[in-house]
Amino acid sequence: MNLLERIRQTSKEHPDRIAMQWWEEKLTYGELELYSSRLAAYIEREWKDQHAAAAVYGHKHPWMLVCFLALVKSGRGYCPIDTSVPEDRVKRILGLLEAGFSMDVTAEEGEGLEAFYRNDEASGGMKAQILTLSAIRRIVEEETEEIDPACALKGSDVYYMIFTSGSTGVPKGVMITRDNLEHYLDWSVTLGGVPKEGKVFLNQAPFSFDLSVMDLYTCLVSGGTLWALDKETQQDYRLLYDCLGKSGVSVFVSTPSFAEVCMSDPVFGEQLMPELSLFLFCGETLTNQTVKKLKKRFPKAVVVNTYGPTESTVAVTEVVVDERMEDEISPLPVGRAKPGTRIEILDADGNLLPDGEKGEIQILGDTVSAGYYRNEEGTAKAFYEAERDGAVVRGYHTGDEGYLMDGMLYYCGRIDLQIKLHGYRIEIEDIENNIVRVPGVRQAAVVPNIRKGAVKSLTAYVVADTQEMDVRGELGAYLPAYMIPKKVVFMDQLPMTNNGKVDRKQLGG
Ligand code: AMP
Repeated sequence: MNLLERIRQTSKEHPDRIAMQWWEEKLTYGELELYSSRLAAYIEREWKDQHAAAAVYGHKHPWMLVCFLALVKSGRGYCPIDTSVPEDRVKRILGLLEAGFSMDVTAEEGEGLEAFYRNDEASGGMKAQILTLSAIRRIVEEETEEIDPACALKGSDVYYMIFTSGSTGVPKGVMITRDNLEHYLDWSVTLGGVPKEGKVFLNQAPFSFDLSVMDLYTCLVSGGTLWALDKETQQDYRLLYDCLGKSGVSVFVSTPSFAEVCMSDPVFGEQLMPELSLFLFCGETLTNQTVKKLKKRFPKAVVVNTYGPTESTVAVTEVVVDERMEDEISPLPVGRAKPGTRIEILDADGNLLPDGEKGEIQILGDTVSAGYYRNEEGTAKAFYEAERDGAVVRGYHTGDEGYLMDGMLYYCGRIDLQIKLHGYRIEIEDIENNIVRVPGVRQAAVVPNIRKGAVKSLTAYVVADTQEMDVRGELGAYLPAYMIPKKVVFMDQLPMTNNGKVDRKQLGG
């Protein structure tokens, strides 16, 4: 059964089961199936000529799911955009998408997507019809048709598009096809060997980050309930523990950084979350210390480390972190390749390296993306086709450094200037290219501050016409909060290497 059929089946067998809950806002499987089918019928009729992926704007609202599925059922892809993405980035994304319509599922009327289109000059004259939450609610009440299942996206069609930080300062839209997602889900439901049917899954990441695909879709195909933690709740300990305590979460999907945040207080343990049976981690280094602390608080839970970039559909390797590894192996391995995926390690000249030798991690197989949306150069640089065992497979140069040992992959860091800060993927050059957009700034270099092997914060070194400026404040217009350097240091000039590049080493990078 494919993913849409599985959701439909749950909606028939358990129509009142909750598919997603965000505080008091709930959506049952029956509602999700009916509303998305009606909305899909409306889209198909009203926007016959519009086939580009549409933006779905919002934060953790269960009706975002109605929009995602409606678009997919009507044969269109979607691009989730979280409300934390700053205006300038949203405009760039919308400009790239050029969708004729988009959906706005922000709870408050009038402060969402409309603002990005209102000012025609700043938005480059973009025009699109916007369906607001109240309009969507009205449509699904009044619509009498349901979409024909034959209209749904085909396997090679783009199912979703997630934008990641791009080194040129322009975000890159990673295209994930329906086949990519279905292959990923066949594996993700088996993760950790823990049964997932009907379980409650934690949703920590916003839908515009691919980690959320792990909880959202593994949950939906397992007939489970997605329990969403919004941004405000994640930043307020009182709300956080209240929400987690009420959740009944069984599958905890997050970055290791977020688990560390939760462990700030001893209350985060088995008593608060007695159902918790599985931790699924992805996106950044999982340390032995984090696992040790978690195992103390949740002795019965299985801890799984997974690894992968957005470009290969969330994750492609898995390892259950057992007691032996916890004590003896540091850093922890990131796992073995899932079925349908092959990991290879190449040296700088493209030669295959043997076990134990460090090189660039290559991911080949059925979940590797079709490429970056409307970015042929970026796609040609990062993706390739190769013949393996008599078949042509798609490959991706990850830019990650690592080595293999008897099929087990170990991650050693990046070979370029990409970093992870509190679980977020950031290209250092992306920040630098946006700092120089601030009026008066001439040059910028950003350096990560590393402690115990992890990036803790960022410092920007800036050459500007005047030091009487609020660089961090101005950057808020271009970059999301997590990308804004904590410290800004003004300099007369940046140190240079002999070959004329900014000398990051002298700046502590
Ligand atoms: P994203 O596309 O945001 O998921 O970021 C992908 C990048 O995160 C990878 O290329 C790695 O650099 C890093 N990453 C993902 N999983 C892990 C992991 N388990 N351990 C260490 N780094 C990871």
